[in-house]
Amino acid sequence: ELTFLERISDTRYQVQVGFVPNMKVPAEIIVNSDLQTLLVQELRDTCCIGPYAEAEQSFIPALRQAANVAALPGIVKASLAMPDVHSGYGFCIGNVAAFDMEDPLSVVSPGGVGFDINCGVRLIRTNLTEVDLTGEMKEKLAEEMFQKIPVGVGRKGEIKCTEDDLDRLLAEGVDWAVEKGLAWPEDRDHCEENGRMDMADPSFVSKRAKKRGLKQLGTLGAGNHYAEIQIVDEVYDQNAADTMGIGKVGQVCIMIHTGSRGLGHQVATDALTTMERAMSKDKIELNDRQLSCARIGSREGKEYLAGMASAANFAWVNRSCITALTRKVFADMFKRTPEEMEMHLVYDVCHNIAKVEEHSIGGVMKKLLVHRKGSTRAFPPYHPNIPKDYQSIGQPVLIGGTMGTCSYVLVGTDKGMTETFGSTCHGAGRALSRNQSRKKLDHVQVLERLKNDGISIRVASPMLVAEEAPESYKNVTDVIDTCEDAGISRKVLKLRPVAVIKG
Ligand code: 5GP
Ligand code: MN
Ligand code: MN
Repeated sequence: ELTFLERISDTRYQVQVGFVPNMKVPAEIIVNSDLQTLLVQELRDTCCIGPYAEAEQSFIPALRQAANVAALPGIVKASLAMPDVHSGYGFCIGNVAAFDMEDPLSVVSPGGVGFDINCGVRLIRTNLTEVDLTGEMKEKLAEEMFQKIPVGVGRKGEIKCTEDDLDRLLAEGVDWAVEKGLAWPEDRDHCEENGRMDMADPSFVSKRAKKRGLKQLGTLGAGNHYAEIQIVDEVYDQNAADTMGIGKVGQVCIMIHTGSRGLGHQVATDALTTMERAMSKDKIELNDRQLSCARIGSREGKEYLAGMASAANFAWVNRSCITALTRKVFADMFKRTPEEMEMHLVYDVCHNIAKVEEHSIGGVMKKLLVHRKGSTRAFPPYHPNIPKDYQSIGQPVLIGGTMGTCSYVLVGTDKGMTETFGSTCHGAGRALSRNQSRKKLDHVQVLERLKNDGISIRVASPMLVAEEAPESYKNVTDVIDTCEDAGISRKVLKLRPVAVIKG
């Protein structure tokens, strides 16, 4: 009956060309049958199942969004959706789309990067174990982190940053943080792009964006951004886990999830206005206005990429600042240096970004602009872009679950490289919209349940807790297992939360 949707395997479904107008390639959805049923149900519920179903409504279901992206000029192979896919602005969250850099029609789209440019996750390890957190220690540590890390909507950053500093860090990323003593020199080796995108040009970041950035450097933000103390719970690949220095069950780690704050948001907002102009000039037609874009080679396209890369650098510095604060809190609490506690950066991934990469398309190497929106790069063993010490295991992939469930560390695979441009999921992905969560769940009960599970929690805005409740998300284990079954990444270990600091 669903003629547009072809099942390729247990974990792969294809939306055929023709489902929405002007599709250049199919849309490919990496889901198990349960997740697939949810996506199709969403299409039915919103009456978006027919080829010309008018998608003028403000909500467009994820499957249709993935198909609309397949209609963008210059897209190659397929518009891909990862197992944690859900509806987003223009592109769905979990969307991966690559455009041929040699095709003059190819586009870059801010909606394919997301408003939180270079939102990402990093994991810091320690040589502490769960017993070091017994008694009052865990609560004290959570409280101290909450005091020292600015969280929530309004709180300003405490890291000193002048206008000159800002211009430099937008261009230099983590290198700036290292120079200021906010990051360890070795941290840079464990960041994607070494924490610095060379495409950056701060002169394409507006005054307004810079103003927002100045106040917010070193802040976590609100919503689902967090600093979480986690325990290594189960190891699936001992060799890979040992190589990352997190092979011991019971070991304490810290996971940090945040992005480019108001600065990145403003860069994205500014770009949407410019793109409108570029589209009418270049006569680009879209199935959805939210997909606004510009030719990669156009002035507007280049300027967006320069601004985006600057915002990405800001995000790396932001995560570095929060790491510096975390190292200090641990040092003060445990009366040992961060070095003594081996607080090394395991890795830092971006999950909202567009990057120029080389991939093989039908046996030919091509230079592509790969958009990953709510998707994590997952490069295979021996890829030149991954750190020396991880060459034999593949790129670490860091996946947050929810504040009440588990998170995962994965590695990239060869199959992912050929099938999904070296990409995998980025989280559990929402199961309920923020509105639905607020209606369905009570934040007091959510907090109570976390407490009963022994998770210390500090939140700046308690009302947000319902939106962030574990029930608001898909089952992360389901999502991870689907990635593994599809072969696009491999499980290394599972982490369990013991303390969460959240916006
Ligand atoms: P996003 O980048 O799309 O805003 O969120 C990424 C993912 O983070 C979500 O899909 C969700 O699975 C995960 N996440 C949200 N809140 C938390 C949290 O408090 N702790 C952990 N570990 N993961 C979370
Ligand atoms: Mn994120
Ligand atoms: Mn974010």
